[in-house]
Amino acid sequence: MKIAVIGTGYVGLVTGVCLAEVGHHVTCIDINEEKVEKLRKGIPPIYEKGLDVLMIDNIDRNRLKFTTVHKEGLSDAEVVYIAVGTPQSADGSADLTYIYQAAKDIGEHVNRDVLVVTKSTVPLGTNFQVKEIVEDHVKGPFKVEVASNPEFLREGSAVYDTFNGDRIVIGTETEEAAAILEKINEPFDIPVLKTSITSAEMIKYASNAFLATKISFINEIASLSEKVGADISDVAKGVGQDHRIGSQFLNAGIGYGGSCFPKDTQALVRISEEVEHDFKLLKSVIDVNARQKTTLFEKAKKRFGTLKGMRVALLGLAFKPETDDMREAASIEMANALTAEGAEVIAYDPIAMENAKKVLPESVQYAENIENAIKDATVVFILTDWKEIKEKALLFSSLFMKKPIIFDGRNCYSQEETEKVQVEYYSVGRSAVN
Ligand code: NAD
Repeated sequence: MKIAVIGTGYVGLVTGVCLAEVGHHVTCIDINEEKVEKLRKGIPPIYEKGLDVLMIDNIDRNRLKFTTVHKEGLSDAEVVYIAVGTPQSADGSADLTYIYQAAKDIGEHVNRDVLVVTKSTVPLGTNFQVKEIVEDHVKGPFKVEVASNPEFLREGSAVYDTFNGDRIVIGTETEEAAAILEKINEPFDIPVLKTSITSAEMIKYASNAFLATKISFINEIASLSEKVGADISDVAKGVGQDHRIGSQFLNAGIGYGGSCFPKDTQALVRISEEVEHDFKLLKSVIDVNARQKTTLFEKAKKRFGTLKGMRVALLGLAFKPETDDMREAASIEMANALTAEGAEVIAYDPIAMENAKKVLPESVQYAENIENAIKDATVVFILTDWKEIKEKALLFSSLFMKKPIIFDGRNCYSQEETEKVQVEYYSVGRSAVN
């Protein structure tokens, strides 16, 4: 099939590459010239395991092209995926500017009947608006169909997830549109759930809201555990072993971040307000998360009184391991708070430092490796549980720091481990050690 994908971010690029990998002819379109320049040379602008190899392979096989010219990709496309960003507006709702522009671009440039598939996370009713906009701009008697095909990939394992997802949700108005999408996705061999467009749009928000709820729930239990002397690691293990609950997303820590949960939970609250539904549970989930983000900093303030003039190592800057995405990362809030406090911040991340430089305060210094970050620090904060950080932070702190003190926002170590190496250790939902 001839497919165009609009937007080459985490979702659009992975979608385009994987659709090419299963045999479709894909043109990826992006307005960002620098990005497209890199992509043409086979360089992915994001860090995603396995993506570069598939990309280069499919460019070589002539199944994958990149362009900044909408006409080039759209004029003969049978199916067009929209995968542009839907960031948070000032009032919390999803900003649909890029979606509307993409719809207009499609209308202006398609030259045949077209199925427009929205992969971006969009509020209920958006797909119908997309259809209207495309129809308003088409320059011929072309039939326009729309489909909601929300994306569930996780950054860091996006390629794996595309080939091994739990389900593919296809929301359409007609059986024909659903059949086209089923055919496109057949090679992935993943169960397909066919629904109405509105239900498909809702499935995406409900999924993210539920996962965010699980995280805030376990963080509340963690706060309580600390106060009553329970250990959240054992508690979460025991709770998660019940298969009705499941162990995933039960890791207590410094709250969720990233490009999806914060904005999608906010957007769902706004969507609810528009239909006069007071989504009390989700509002609490958001509040708990905001509080959770500062808990480690508060603990450090309590321990030291002030962090003014102290050299603080921040280990892990990306919002989670295996990605270079800094959107809504805990490190941003932490670096801002520490800098405002007058601390000297030295940061390290295996992959995300270039992106971090764009969003962290200018005064933050960057270390080439964990050892250099820790060496002269008075205190270490662990913010992202990269494998490398988990393997080295405790050992190096005990070896290189005069008086090792760690504030661990991801509960990387057991109490026993830290006790053994005599590191003063603070984590989330467990009592302090040493
Ligand atoms: P992103 O911000 O990384 O990428 C969006 C891209 O679209 C950018 O490269 C931008 O230049 C391009 N763009 C914007 N307008 C355009 C236009 N008119 N024509 C061509 N290109 C255009 O976004 P993302 O993280 O890939 O997310 C895309 C959507 O998918 C969002 O709605 C997001 O909520 C959803 N989503 C994201 C993830 C994730 O893990 N990142 C997972 C599931 C769903």
